[in-house]
Amino acid sequence: MKVSLPKGTKDILSEEMRKYRYIENVFSEVCQNYGYGEINTPVFEYTELFQRGVGETTDVVQKEMYTFNDKGNRSLTLRPEGTAGVVRSYILNGMNSLPQPIKLFYMGKMYRYENVQKGRYREFTQIGVEAIGSLIPEIDVETISLLNTFFNKLNINDLQIRINSIGCKECRPKYNEILKDYYRNYLDDLCDDCKIRFEKNPLRLIDCKQHQCMAISKNAPYLLDNLCDECTDDFNKVKEGLDNLGIRYIVDKTIVRGLDYYTKTVFEFISENVGTQATICGGGRYDQLVEMLGGKPTPGIGFAMGVERLMMEIEARGVMLIEPKFPVLSMVTLGEAAYKFSSRIIDELRKEDIFVDIDVMGRGLKAQMKYADKMKSKYVIVLGDEEIKTNKCRIKIMESGQEKEISVDSIVNRIKENKI
Ligand code: ATP
Ligand code: MG
Repeated sequence: MKVSLPKGTKDILSEEMRKYRYIENVFSEVCQNYGYGEINTPVFEYTELFQRGVGETTDVVQKEMYTFNDKGNRSLTLRPEGTAGVVRSYILNGMNSLPQPIKLFYMGKMYRYENVQKGRYREFTQIGVEAIGSLIPEIDVETISLLNTFFNKLNINDLQIRINSIGCKECRPKYNEILKDYYRNYLDDLCDDCKIRFEKNPLRLIDCKQHQCMAISKNAPYLLDNLCDECTDDFNKVKEGLDNLGIRYIVDKTIVRGLDYYTKTVFEFISENVGTQATICGGGRYDQLVEMLGGKPTPGIGFAMGVERLMMEIEARGVMLIEPKFPVLSMVTLGEAAYKFSSRIIDELRKEDIFVDIDVMGRGLKAQMKYADKMKSKYVIVLGDEEIKTNKCRIKIMESGQEKEISVDSIVNRIKENKI
């Protein structure tokens, strides 16, 4: 059998994994300081959840879902995004009876059947947050501020923050009619997808990336210019709130976001580095989603960030996130008795959370020395029967090549206390 990897997937090897962990840790810490707890929902859910929650007319549902029937003939789908699952969990676990808002963050693999290209995979990682229960724009500001803080912690201080409002159930239907009036004149020139959008989800007409449609949407009326009073008011408060915190942003009337559930505030964090896949992070309000999925009417807001795209951003900036760890001590042993003795020392130090190493390949003395050097150990101790008998051994400080004599029974304490 010849093994291979499904298209759009990749192994994340140790060096990269270290960066993932670092990002996760920073994210988790920032989220907790903003009052978020972690949630972990299943990787697959009933297909219906995403059809309803993400929206029938979205690219994700129409083209990108990994849907299959299980052996019990239930239609399941690998999650293409995190929000629907979190909201489902909010409803099923009765979180509405807890003090609101419910603030949750997650990190996990997502699955979309996409055209694979740079920054676009079929299995990818998202980290994101959902704040469910608050209707007021203060939480919008806080959510954007959380993201801003997170990027600052990673030393990424120049992402463009673009915000827009896409209205609510009052102003959006009215705007849809205005939009349809505009597009009706161009109906024959629209792509096939947009012909469907025209009927089912006119707002997405603005978002189409097909050339012929982009030319038409250039002069289309914007929702931001047709908001109801409440939405206008809320959007102004979001802007004021961001100003108040000194967060710079651009109002971009063209942002509508790919998923159906968004309302009012939507936003994106954009980079110049990632090439065509410039959106590192996207989010917004979803005031109707909980109700759409069978819960009581409850507003919410969240964002999701592509970790692979974030990594590309970090790579492009050449910032090394975290140094790899090297062993403090490698024990090089000669003979079985010395090995057993040394492995007890190693074991004790490991239990003290110290990174130490001993051969597990059956290497000879010289090869062990060479390996310890390759591993970039800080200290190396060579131990044989003679050293154990006389309680004296030599410790080599690898950086300088200097050697010192110490007693064998002081090894553990010296390494623990870093006193050589
Ligand atoms: P795009 O317009 O690039 O397709 P999207 O609107 O589909 O993005 P969202 O569903 O909002 O993206 O997901 C949020 C983030 O998740 C994106 O900004 C991106 O960083 C990341 N992301 C989305 N799809 C992929 C993918 N196929 N591969 C890698 N990252 C992805
Ligand atoms: Mg997409």
